Amino acid sequence: MEGFKNIPELYGSMVFRDNVMREKLPKDIYKALKKTIETGIPLTLEVANAVATAMKDWAIEKGATHYTHWFQPMTGITAEKHDSFIEPADGGSVVLEFSGKALIKGESDASSFPSGGLRATFEARGYTAWDPTSYAFVKESTLYIPTAFCSYGGETLDKKTPLIRSMAVIGDVALRILHLFGKTDVTSVTTTAGPEQEYFLVSEDLWRRRPDLMMCGRTLFGAKPSKGQELDDHYFGAIKPKIKSFMSDLDLELWKLGIAAKTEHNEAAPAQHELAPIFSTTNIACDHNQLTMEMMKKIAHRHGMVCLLHEKPFEGISGSGKHNNWSLSTNQGKNIFKPGDSPEENIKFLIFLIAVITAVDEYADLLRASVASAGNDCRLGGHEAPPAVISFFLGDELTAILESFEHKSPYAKKNRVIMDVGATVIPTFQKDTTDRNRTSPFAFTGNKFEFRMLGSSASIADTNIVLNTAVAEVLGRIADRLEGAEDVQLEAIKIIREYYAAHKRVIFNGNGYSQDWEEEAARRGLPNYRSSADAIPCLLAEKNVKLFEKHGIYSEAELHSRCDIMLENYCKVLRIEAVTMIDVAKRMIIPAIIKYTDMLSSAALSRSKLSLAPLRAEL
Ligand code: ADP
Ligand code: MG
Repeated sequence: MEGFKNIPELYGSMVFRDNVMREKLPKDIYKALKKTIETGIPLTLEVANAVATAMKDWAIEKGATHYTHWFQPMTGITAEKHDSFIEPADGGSVVLEFSGKALIKGESDASSFPSGGLRATFEARGYTAWDPTSYAFVKESTLYIPTAFCSYGGETLDKKTPLIRSMAVIGDVALRILHLFGKTDVTSVTTTAGPEQEYFLVSEDLWRRRPDLMMCGRTLFGAKPSKGQELDDHYFGAIKPKIKSFMSDLDLELWKLGIAAKTEHNEAAPAQHELAPIFSTTNIACDHNQLTMEMMKKIAHRHGMVCLLHEKPFEGISGSGKHNNWSLSTNQGKNIFKPGDSPEENIKFLIFLIAVITAVDEYADLLRASVASAGNDCRLGGHEAPPAVISFFLGDELTAILESFEHKSPYAKKNRVIMDVGATVIPTFQKDTTDRNRTSPFAFTGNKFEFRMLGSSASIADTNIVLNTAVAEVLGRIADRLEGAEDVQLEAIKIIREYYAAHKRVIFNGNGYSQDWEEEAARRGLPNYRSSADAIPCLLAEKNVKLFEKHGIYSEAELHSRCDIMLENYCKVLRIEAVTMIDVAKRMIIPAIIKYTDMLSSAALSRSKLSLAPLRAEL
């Protein structure tokens, strides 16, 4: 069959992944590297040299001539500087080389990356350090090595380092709790993420005629078309051949890079689409989402289209978000947020659940700040987007169960089995215990949580850093109490009861888009930061600085720097939009008006010459 591709063979073929490492590396080197990946202990130079050589040989087989330390500075996108493998050899010739040192650590001029005042320009040096937990890959004749990025003084200048730290923090405390519940066979816990990516595709020819779309990623002027989103005929509609051909190309490119692109469909607005991958470890999901956004733009170009990742390219129709699906998984691949089949299992489940509810309530301001950007301001609270108030959708069944805990009242399951929650008997509940409420910013969706406030162009790092750290903080308090308790089950029930009573205000199962809810949220005392300019400074609230410092995610200086960078970026984006608006008005709109008035006056003149009745203005 023409065009047939052996997908299993193609999948991950450009990735220096586990099976390639096992095949290409001497056994002892492979074992040492595996240990580093699993435990984080540093590699010896000998091991690094062996890995680098194998990596280079493999990359050259895949067509690579260069390598790059690929990192994620605070611009929110990725950065790379390419070095070729060539080294001078005898007689004016060259050899291709790649040392362990070059693999582990790179040095780059950091002076033009945002540092928020952390690094003076004269200290231009920045370091990149290999992150062996995310596989290296070959793309466009270059070996990409995922790396962390820090300043000469050791301050983090990127989004990967704090993300990895936060994953370790929550992993450790979740493990403590699992052990308290007798799950001693679990040796590690990691966070997982599956970001659903929304985007628009528009014709490149038309895009070139719009300086506002080109400069700002959104239209600043314009009238609504006669047909927009009103018929709801785009959502899940038949995919046009041109779009399908783009999606197929995108899938192939992503699969080669080991990115599990899975679900694709037309989204609500005309020309809007979505791609969801199969979830993975958060760090890898974050790298993969960056690559996905980059590939979407490149491949759209090949098809004569432009991929718009702006949160609100067109007024009056839906904007684009990125749903961050989040969960915790054991080293055996068990999802911690899957409700269990037995009462004991469900106490454990409810303890983890209450920790998330508590974290979302206590750190709602941080979650809001993590999605703040000028682009997302145009979307949050707008057509088909969650409001700026953070609420938690739990569903009726789980809400009823937690209510019965609080009131020590029996819980009546729908099939009329009455449970006494005062004792350790907890009802079993169905996997699909929740409905799909699309209006809630933070929803429990059966076995994971979906945070829907992220903007389509954002890195998922910031949100996951906040989520991991905040939930870790609450889990830590819970673990302390459980460890000091005589009866873990009884103490757990007490905790669920207390925490639910204290934080139930964040739970809202109704329509998050309604005006009533905004008013009700205000009565409940939930924060509502409509603008990023208000939300971003929450990073510096005393409780938030304390949280990040306690868990070793950010120092206070690093938080100041991040806050400054976000605010500065916000101002710059607004300024670019204002300047573009003036430019478009001057160069396109005013000349068009003059041309039109010229036409009217010359028509009026001709008519008067012919002694016809004058034209009326409305003509
Ligand atoms: P929706 O109806 O919201 O589109 P889907 O079932 O299609 O939901 O899943 C959306 C995303 O959630 C997918 O990217 C999927 O991989 C991800 N996901 C599923 N389970 C988990 C999990 N345990 N952790 C993180 N993400 C998950
Ligand atoms: Mg979806």
